[in-house]
Amino acid sequence: MTRLATRLQGIAPTIFTEMSALAVRTGSVNLGQGFPDEDGPPEVIAEAVRALEHGANQYAPGPGVPALRQAIARHQQRHYGLELDPDREVVVTTGCTEGVAAALLGLVDPGDEVVVLEPYYDSYVAMLQMAGGVRRPVTLRAPDFRLDVDELRAAVTPRTRFVLLNSPHNPTGSVLSREELQAVADLAVERDLVVITDEVYEHLTFGDDHVPIATLPGMYERTLSLSSAGKSYSFTGWKVGWATGPADLVGAVLAAKQWMTFTSGSPLQPAVALALDEEPDFPRALAKDLQERRDLLVDGLRAAGLTAYVPQGTYFATASVHELGWPDGMAFCLALPERAGVVAIPEQVFYDDQTDPAGGRDLVRFAFCKTREVIADGVARLTAADLHA
Ligand code: GLN
Repeated sequence: MTRLATRLQGIAPTIFTEMSALAVRTGSVNLGQGFPDEDGPPEVIAEAVRALEHGANQYAPGPGVPALRQAIARHQQRHYGLELDPDREVVVTTGCTEGVAAALLGLVDPGDEVVVLEPYYDSYVAMLQMAGGVRRPVTLRAPDFRLDVDELRAAVTPRTRFVLLNSPHNPTGSVLSREELQAVADLAVERDLVVITDEVYEHLTFGDDHVPIATLPGMYERTLSLSSAGKSYSFTGWKVGWATGPADLVGAVLAAKQWMTFTSGSPLQPAVALALDEEPDFPRALAKDLQERRDLLVDGLRAAGLTAYVPQGTYFATASVHELGWPDGMAFCLALPERAGVVAIPEQVFYDDQTDPAGGRDLVRFAFCKTREVIADGVARLTAADLHA
């Protein structure tokens, strides 16, 4: 007998925790879970220490400390030309994961359909199920992982109320083009849909800049944008994120958030405000450096016999293990620690139909937010091993 509530039944434990535990257990190089092994700017850490020592230790205001909300508004202005009212159009969340949770719990009614890009980040599925929403996946397919606009249109029914976007896209590394975003925008306007967009990798692109869908004509008022400091500033453990957009959508996030975490950690908020204001170039410099590490990893994966695709953004590269003769990426990833002493993430768990041969069964994700030494070590282990099934 399970004691688990129905709303959580059938949802597997998150693959990231499972695979990081496997890495620790086997002493493997962890190219699975996406966390950098170098921290963000020391000045930002110093600001957090100052805040801890100078009394920022009690509850922050519900929507977040004013200095951070103002810094987020300035960030949106500086990068995207969006003018936000920091008091009504910005809410600080405990990482973007809480932003996603609060958005779905605050906006989605049971039975509402939500179009979501597949492969999808695993928390979307869990939170949609908890909210009683129904997901309508639209698949991004190898080798380019582009958005098929006809499939997108076909996924929308009279019960569809939301599109849950993610660009730059985890796990494929695809960055939606302005044309693809315009197709989403056209559909949203035509069918009166709200777009919830997870843009945590907004600054980690390697070619064309990321375009927030909120900047497209007519989209601001129907878009809830989510982001965080975790990826942009290499502070994934701080769990400082934010939701921005029109007051009614941001208000729904706050309405749900206040009953979950109430408020987010106060000493980290002034530090993230300082990061946004004083270190505006850090994320782009990080992206430039990540691009070299991406190439190191992709070349290495190819040398090891995998069919690796080149990501346009994020810090993940997707590769197919089909050529090596594996039935699926899960079997490959479970064998990999013993074969090579490396851990990666099987992408099939991010698809509705995990048995469909066209559904990413053969895809595996490798993280390159690691030092060059760690990537080189991982690559050396992969190329030295026999990776055939
Ligand atoms: N976002 C990170 C990744 O994709 C992991 C976060 C988590 O473990 N929940 O690897």
